[in-house]
Amino acid sequence: MRVWVDQDRCTGDGLCVQYAPEVFEFDIDGLAYVKDPDGTLLTAPGTRTEVPEHLRLEVVDSARECPGECIHLEPPD
Ligand code: SF4
Repeated sequence: MRVWVDQDRCTGDGLCVQYAPEVFEFDIDGLAYVKDPDGTLLTAPGTRTEVPEHLRLEVVDSARECPGECIHLEPPD
């Protein structure tokens, strides 16, 4: 499963960062971005990253409860 954030709709509330800090993090603009599996923040808007198997539930919950409805899940390639 892959995940990406539509930063145009992110409210910056931080729910995703609380749920899955291994996958989501704020950049200096106060918006959430995804990280690659090594923990590097991917600051290009809309960049996809692979969700580690053990974090699937946290990422699905983040997407479900994201107030901006801007966390998007996709099947892997
Ligand atoms: S939960 Fe959604 S709106 Fe809130 S910071 Fe994360 S991506 Fe942005």
